[in-house]
Amino acid sequence: TIGMLALDADGNLSGACTTSGAAWKMHGRVGDSPLIGAGLFVDNEVGAAAATGLGEEVIRTCGSHLVVENMRHGDDPETACRKAVQRIVEKNESVENIQVGFIAVNKQGQYGGYSIQPGFDFAVYQSDENRLVHSNNWMS
Ligand code: ASP
Repeated sequence: TIGMLALDADGNLSGACTTSGAAWKMHGRVGDSPLIGAGLFVDNEVGAAAATGLGEEVIRTCGSHLVVENMRHGDDPETACRKAVQRIVEKNESVENIQVGFIAVNKQGQYGGYSIQPGFDFAVYQSDENRLVHSNNWMS
């Protein structure tokens, strides 16, 4: 999945995502990416979020919507992502073989990400600079 979130010079938020879906998926499977609220959610009053990883887990928690709602209730973007990851962790006996990662940006331009497994990096373009961010994760 490629998820993109933007805050423009006028302070407006937007987002987009694209995916090839899961490996070895069943014909006709619909993942989280085309479902607004699951793989992507933008609320121009609060923030935006996108997800990658095992779409079924993102769908059943309305993951990206959950991240935005967490920000609405005062969480910074990384905390909002971590709590959405925590929801997925709580709904599974084991997340050893599950990866889900979220990215988020809020109306103030703060951003963050969080994943279940290590190795979830995301790119940020801000103030004419590109930077790679290594996100924190549940396992370490
Ligand atoms: N989230 C996608 C899906 O489950 C997979 C991915 O992140 O590449 O369809």
